[in-house]
Amino acid sequence: MERHKKQSFWSSYVSSLPPKPPWIPSLLSVEYIELLPADLRLAAKKSRRLLEESWSRIKKSIKRDWTCSCCGKRADCVLDVNTFTWGYILVNTRAVYVNPEIVRESCGSCEDILSDQPCMALCPYLDMFNHSHTARTRAELIRREGRLVYQLTALNSTKKHQQVFISYGAHDNVKLLTEYGFFIPGNRFDSIQIRSEDVLKVLNLNLNDSQYKFIRTHGLDKSDLYIGEGGPSFNLKAFLFVAFKDSTAKNFASIIYSDSYPKHFLEGIVDSCRKLLYLHLELTEKALRTFQDLASIDSERDVSVIIDFLKYRREFVKVLCDNKQ
Ligand SMILES: [Zn+2]
Repeated sequence: MERHKKQSFWSSYVSSLPPKPPWIPSLLSVEYIELLPADLRLAAKKSRRLLEESWSRIKKSIKRDWTCSCCGKRADCVLDVNTFTWGYILVNTRAVYVNPEIVRESCGSCEDILSDQPCMALCPYLDMFNHSHTARTRAELIRREGRLVYQLTALNSTKKHQQVFISYGAHDNVKLLTEYGFFIPGNRFDSIQIRSEDVLKVLNLNLNDSQYKFIRTHGLDKSDLYIGEGGPSFNLKAFLFVAFKDSTAKNFASIIYSDSYPKHFLEGIVDSCRKLLYLHLELTEKALRTFQDLASIDSERDVSVIIDFLKYRREFVKVLCDNKQ
């Protein structure tokens, strides 16, 4: 709405924003999203659902007889889905997190118009800083002379005339691509997500009741199953240990939580991880061929970022396959 108003207090800031928001995978059509590898597909679907729900809430919140104070036009003439998507993506890719309690204290309750916590703020100028996986930053909201100030402190040094980067968080490349529209080759936080059903299928494992119960009660099948440069994650290692070994819950827990896995198990899972990565490599190559074919027959829709991402992903999985950890 501030973009639409001619006399907006925020017009200098709004005009500094890019006229086209960054491209993110949730802008793909529903059919194209279905063709993505599982981890990216789930992330893109979630992000698309949030965008659609937000748009539908906005539409419902505007009164039918509402007209714009600056031009007298009806709501649907001032705000359409494209304008909304522009604002939504720009806010989501540029906003900083603020403590909702502090926002409530200074701005009052916003509960009647928000479906979640008031935890996002746009900071002109600050939102121009790019992310680096090697940057470390401390962010705080402080009071200075009666005003709330968002302060970022760089915790690593930057050479003269070099670009100053900040950290948006310890994000892997799927998260960076779905949330911000870019990814970083060599990102030290990158990893390959592994689904528990793929572990069982690829490694031909059947869980008995006690193994299944241990995995469920310790939440080992739901999240944080991944392989990165440092090898399998804590949860994946524990999942494999339980799935490979028939033992009691007490024994499982004592070994997993003291990280005292037997040597032969640690040596054996290098091969298991490689098999899981081969599946990923296959699926990535298949998705890459599909999107390359689509790009050659459908030049209207831009899928170049997805193609670049899948090419990068293919090389990353190959590096992990050669990893001895
Ligand atoms: Zn107007």
